[in-house]
Amino acid sequence: MDIQNENRMEVRSVDEVARVIIPRSLCTKYGISEGDEIAFSDEGSFIGLRKHRSSCCICGSLEDLILIGEARKSICRGCASEIKSA
Ligand SMILES: [Zn+2]
Repeated sequence: MDIQNENRMEVRSVDEVARVIIPRSLCTKYGISEGDEIAFSDEGSFIGLRKHRSSCCICGSLEDLILIGEARKSICRGCASEIKSA
């Protein structure tokens, strides 16, 4: 990370159960709001964080999703249709 990026960083403390508050400005910029799921990734020298987008648990599609079952799994209508006709 270069000095220019480091100067733009907002610093927050981690609490006793490892929670951290995402700065409001970043929530606004990236469209993160209450109830959204956040995906974390290990980038080797830092932790990546992004708004999680649900995908079909069978084909990975991000489009035309429905939630099924008690576990509320996402499945696309195409896969749902294939299962229905099997
Ligand atoms: Zn699918």
